[in-house]
Amino acid sequence: MAHGHLIPFLELANLIHRRSSVFTTTIVNTPSNIQYLRSTISAASSTPKIHLAELHYSSTDHDLPPNTENTENLSLDQISTLFHSSTALELPLRQLISDIVQKDGKPPLCIISDVFFGWSVAVARSFNIPIFNFTTCGAYGTLAYLSLWLNLPHRSTTADDFSIPGFPERCRFRRSQLHRFLLAADGTDSWSKYFQPQLSSALRSDGWLCNTVEEVEYFGLGLLRDYIKIPVWAIGPLLPQTSSRRWGKEKDSGVDLENCINWLNSHPKNSVLYISFGSQNTINETQMLELAHGLEESGKAFIWVVRPPLGQDMKAEFRAHQWLPDRFEERMKETNRGLLIRNWAPQLEILSHESVGAFLSHCGWNSTVESLSQGVPMIGWPMAAEQAYNSKMVVEEMGIGVELTRGKESEIERGKVKEVIEMVMGESGKGEEMRKKAAIVKDKMIAAIKDDKQKGSSLRSLEEFLAIIQSKREKTNGRVLV
Ligand code: UDP
Repeated sequence: MAHGHLIPFLELANLIHRRSSVFTTTIVNTPSNIQYLRSTISAASSTPKIHLAELHYSSTDHDLPPNTENTENLSLDQISTLFHSSTALELPLRQLISDIVQKDGKPPLCIISDVFFGWSVAVARSFNIPIFNFTTCGAYGTLAYLSLWLNLPHRSTTADDFSIPGFPERCRFRRSQLHRFLLAADGTDSWSKYFQPQLSSALRSDGWLCNTVEEVEYFGLGLLRDYIKIPVWAIGPLLPQTSSRRWGKEKDSGVDLENCINWLNSHPKNSVLYISFGSQNTINETQMLELAHGLEESGKAFIWVVRPPLGQDMKAEFRAHQWLPDRFEERMKETNRGLLIRNWAPQLEILSHESVGAFLSHCGWNSTVESLSQGVPMIGWPMAAEQAYNSKMVVEEMGIGVELTRGKESEIERGKVKEVIEMVMGESGKGEEMRKKAAIVKDKMIAAIKDDKQKGSSLRSLEEFLAIIQSKREKTNGRVLV
């Protein structure tokens, strides 16, 4: 599991605990992820007691490189191998459940697994345990991803834009919105061979949990429910409770949270553009240069989470003098115009600061939820997975973003960068319109998790879900496996 999946799972476990103390939750994952979660949990005093369990598998029959943490450096075949290798966790999971049955005298109350691990449905069924899938993506993006992989609609047309099953005709998708894996897929390739059966199995689970909000994604949720025909509970926004300081990433960045907040404090409301491409991505050298020039020409203040460009080791030192315009970092520093943060920034804390007026993002779902939950309009630069569909939804359905470009190979030009930044951050016109709409979405997100007399929709949804799993084994306190 990548970072963008792991953290929502942890937050889901936290949420279940906060709503009901009768459950014991065990997070089950591979050793390195468990180690990461262990340090995260132990550093966060607010985290309730959550059990962790490691699944060990022998990787001898999988040709995986030693460091699979950063999928950017892997070839298509290796990434496909990485996915396929997850099925080798089936046996260790069965063993773990048998051990729990022995220890607790009963099987776990339910299993909640990632939507990509469809194989876990068969495991749960064989133990007669209810199973639910959790999609860490939004409803619209999940449906687009699911439908594209299951139906490969782009293969039956040569047109650049086409409709896809599950979406109304007006929501046309373009080839440039499909990731290279999907574009190359024909149903017999190794990608289709993983995704098609896994997603089909996930459709046979007892229902899906989705990190979204009923009132914000009513359109996408409606489509998803119609298409998958099993219950979907919208339980978001799941926001990281643990700041990046606690995640131990701060040391890489060269800027601590306090400096960052002080820097933001020195800028007026809505005046700063925050730029980050998530936990896995970077852009190419030419794009980086054009982005820097465009930023400088726009005259707007910015925080930019920088990583070495494509083709370089993303975790290596960022050499501003090599990859950015001459004296760019120094100039930005001297004029208090821009702050470059290396590798990892305290994202949610930045987005929640009132100086931030827009987020230039790869539109990963967590970043999208975090931006929307703070009422920050987005400039989209989707790169992989379902990011292009998240961007499409934010732009076309919500009207709180503009897409700058797509992908890591696209040609972007400084003039366009400047133009888009000025439009989204403008005090009047489209910028103002977007900010107003974003503020409404923020209110809806806050209301969804409000724990007052009426209770927000996401809380009610979660309580309904918990009542259902409990009713499956009445009056028993039980363990939840996620
Ligand atoms: N993130 C962060 N600081 C960074 C980059 C990312 O805190 O410098 C967090 C971000 O807040 C989000 C997650 O990492 O919670 C990224 O998840 P997302 O789904 O947006 O993208 P992914 O990394 O999965 O592509």
